[in-house]
Amino acid sequence: MAKVAVVGAGIIGLSTALEIQKQTSCKVTIISEKFTPETTADGAAGIFGLYLLGSTQPDRQVKWAKRTHDLIETWWKSQNSGAMGISLISCRRMNHTPVPPIWKDVVFGVRKMTKEELKDVGRLTGEHKSGLEMITFTAEPYRFMPYLMRFFEKQGGEILKQKVESLQELLKEYDCVVNCTGVHASYLTGDKLIKPLRGQVMRVSAPWIRTVILDDLDDGNYVIANQESVVVGGTHQDNDWDTIPREEDKQFIRDGGKCLDPSLDEAKEIAHWVGLRPGRPEVRLEREGCIVHNYGHGGSGITVFQGCAEEATDLVKLVLQEKGKLGVTAKL
Ligand SMILES: Cc1cc2nc3c(=O)[nH]c(=O)nc-3n(C[C@H](O)[C@H](O)[C@H](O)COP(=O)(O)OP(=O)(O)OC[C@H]3O[C@@H](n4cnc5c(N)ncnc54)[C@H](O)[C@@H]3O)c2cc1C
Repeated sequence: MAKVAVVGAGIIGLSTALEIQKQTSCKVTIISEKFTPETTADGAAGIFGLYLLGSTQPDRQVKWAKRTHDLIETWWKSQNSGAMGISLISCRRMNHTPVPPIWKDVVFGVRKMTKEELKDVGRLTGEHKSGLEMITFTAEPYRFMPYLMRFFEKQGGEILKQKVESLQELLKEYDCVVNCTGVHASYLTGDKLIKPLRGQVMRVSAPWIRTVILDDLDDGNYVIANQESVVVGGTHQDNDWDTIPREEDKQFIRDGGKCLDPSLDEAKEIAHWVGLRPGRPEVRLEREGCIVHNYGHGGSGITVFQGCAEEATDLVKLVLQEKGKLGVTAKL
């Protein structure tokens, strides 16, 4: 039986490992230093958004997002949707350009807000220039990732907790190695293009907020209702490795959040959190010999993971086919 190692257990590694399991009959092992709830997606609100993907081809971004949105819709229709943290939610996106956005056909019912509606949206300084309203999903990673981990193991997947020092070394034991190491990819590849895009957010208790509002003008302020809390964001600081929440960012987030929804004044703060988005001028999803790279998804890992997992699996299948080791399953 062919053996494939996936390095990294973030949303990208986990979804890729599951897709390889689904489409082939090989033995899949996830090797990772950290697992949920300690990955980059675990603190994220999990809203649809093609954000900080650099110059990654727009067609590719939209294709990946569509595949992911479709999968999340399937989860939402299943009996497990609540446990997996999947919610269908009304979303307003202020001051987004271009209009219409490239992802208009991925989410449901995008429409431009009227001038009267724009006036109704809280904003303490100035006015909103434009707004889009739509329905989409929140998929809360800290809820669905443990679920997917259990599914991976149930399907015969193996898990090893360790730091990998060399992808080439792994090829002595595995037929193909998939590199999903996110912001730490340079350690194994020497890739100088990958860098952290620091994101600080705050979770509050505000059960009266049941929608999403994002402002693309204000350096990315947003208010996103999750099932048990509301996520208020956020920052995106270039090339910043600091994972400790900062006081000045807390204030920026509080002020920006209240501009969008003044009722946050009454909200109780629960936690502050920092994650490092894997920033790159372009997502790296390509084959290098028997190694497949899948990293650099910026602020969109939860929006594009499934499309990327499928494309990475196609590359893994090519590697195995060339070695005469491809066994394809009939699993749907
Ligand atoms: C504040 C914030 C909010 C966000 N909100 C959203 C959102 O609403 N919607 C959205 O789509 N995206 C959002 N994102 C972006 C999203 O979280 C990321 O794009 C995504 O989590 C990246 O996943 P990853 O698997 O590539 O990286 P990670 O989750 O960082 O996973 C990398 C894995 O590789 C492992 N690893 C690294 N190096 C090694 C090594 N040498 N050996 C072994 N293991 C190794 C790590 O331990 C880890 O398990 C947000 C991000 C932040 C920070």
